[in-house]
Amino acid sequence: MQIETLIIGAGAAGMMCAAHAGPGVLVVDHAKAAGEKIRISGGGRCNFTNLHSSPQNFISRNPHFCKSALKRYTQWDFIDLVGQYGIAWHEKTLGQLFCDSTAKDIIATLYAEMEKAGAQLWLQTSVAAISHDGAEFTATLTRDGRETHVKAKNLVVACGGKSIPKMGATGFGYQIAQQFGLPVITPRPGLVPLTFSDDRFKPLAGVAAPARVSAGDAQFDEAILFTHRGLSGPAILQASSYWQEGESIDVNLIPQAGLLAALQSARQSDGKKALTTVLGHALPARLVDYLQDELGLTGNIADQSDARLTTLCDALAHWQLTPAGSEGYRTAEVTLGGVDTDALSSKTMQSKDVPGLYFIGECVDVTGWLGGYNFQWAWSSGWAAGQAIRGT
Ligand SMILES: Cc1cc2nc3c(=O)[nH]c(=O)nc-3n(C[C@H](O)[C@H](O)[C@H](O)COP(=O)(O)OP(=O)(O)OC[C@H]3O[C@@H](n4cnc5c(N)ncnc54)[C@H](O)[C@@H]3O)c2cc1C
Repeated sequence: MQIETLIIGAGAAGMMCAAHAGPGVLVVDHAKAAGEKIRISGGGRCNFTNLHSSPQNFISRNPHFCKSALKRYTQWDFIDLVGQYGIAWHEKTLGQLFCDSTAKDIIATLYAEMEKAGAQLWLQTSVAAISHDGAEFTATLTRDGRETHVKAKNLVVACGGKSIPKMGATGFGYQIAQQFGLPVITPRPGLVPLTFSDDRFKPLAGVAAPARVSAGDAQFDEAILFTHRGLSGPAILQASSYWQEGESIDVNLIPQAGLLAALQSARQSDGKKALTTVLGHALPARLVDYLQDELGLTGNIADQSDARLTTLCDALAHWQLTPAGSEGYRTAEVTLGGVDTDALSSKTMQSKDVPGLYFIGECVDVTGWLGGYNFQWAWSSGWAAGQAIRGT
C-alpha cells in the first residue's frame, strides 16, 4: 500500500497533524480507541488549553524550541476550533479551560477534522518494523492478525511518552528516534506525586493546604495534598517536574504574609489560648497536630516571645522535605525528556538529518506545566508538522 504520510499514534498530536497534513494520510494506533488520554483528561472534561500559554510554561533542554509552533498555532486558534464545533467551555482557575460537558467533545472535533481532511484511521494496529530506503519509509503493520506493508513519503511519530502504561503508553517513539540516530534526552516522570520512605505523612492523608512549593529554580503557589505515600496536589505535581532525585523541596505552608503579625496580635487578645489552637486558624488542625513535636508547639500563645514566633514562622515558611522518589509512570501525567530538540526543526518538527521523519507531541523534549499546556503543545506541534507536510 502506498500513501503520502503515515502517522503513528492517534492521540492529541497525531490527530491534529492528520487534520492538517493534506491528502494521503493514514493514522495507526495499537489502542482500541483514538484519543484515550483526551477522554480521561481533566477529570473527564479535558483541560484543553490555557489562556496564558506561553513558552515560559514549558520545560525543555532548549527553552526556545517550542516558541515557533506555539506562536503559529496558539491557544486562541484552538479556542476558535472548539467554538466552530459549538463546544461550551469554562475557565476553572489560572487560565485553565475545560469543556462544560465532556472531553469526548474534543475527540469528536478531532475525528471530524480528520474526516474532513480525508485521513484514514486504523485502530488496533501494531507496528512491527520500520525502514527507510533514503526516499521512502516502509512500515510493517499488523492488523486483524494480518501483516500489511505500507510505504510512505513521510513518517510522523506521535506515540506520546511513557506515562500510564496501562493506557498503552510504550515509549515506542524513543525507539524510532534511536533507530534513525536521533538523540533522546533521558525520559522521566513529570507532574507526578512525590513519595516519602517512612510513611511519614500517612496520618495526614487527605489533608489539603495552600502552599508555595519550590524545586530547582521553580516555585508554584497552589494547593498541596497529603497522601498515604507522600505529597500530591497541583503545587507538588508542578514542582515534581523540576525536582531531581536526591534533592529536597521547600514547602512554604504560610504563603500569605501576615502570620507573625496575626500571632503577635493573638498574644495580646487571646493570650490564654494554646499556640496550637491559634495556629489552627491559619493551618489545617491535623497538620498543626502533626507538626507539634517537630516544631515544639507547646504552651499558650502568651508564653511565646517575638524571637520564638519569628523562628516558628520561618520554619513554617521553609519546610525542607526530601522525597524518596515519585509515584513513577504509573500515575505521572506526562513524561519529561524525549527526542532531543537539537535534532529537529522548530518550525516543522522534521528531523534535520532524515527528510520526511517528524516527531510531535509528548515524545519530543518539550513538557508543559499542569493546566492545559501539554495539550496545547500537542495541538501546536501537530499543526506545525501538518502544515509542513501539506506544503511539501
Ligand atoms: C490522567 C491524565 C490526565 C491528563 N490531563 C491533561 C489535561 O487536562 N490537560 C493537558 O494539557 N494535558 C493533560 N494530560 C497530558 C496529555 O494527555 C498528554 O500530554 C497528551 O495526550 C500528549 O499527546 P500525544 O498525542 O503526544 O500523546 P498521547 O495522547 O499519549 O497519544 C499517543 C498515542 O500513541 C499510541 N501509541 C503508543 N505507542 C504505540 C505503538 N507502539 N504503536 C501504535 N500506537 C502507539 C497510544 O495508544 C496513543 O493513542 C493528562 C495526562 C494524563 C495521563
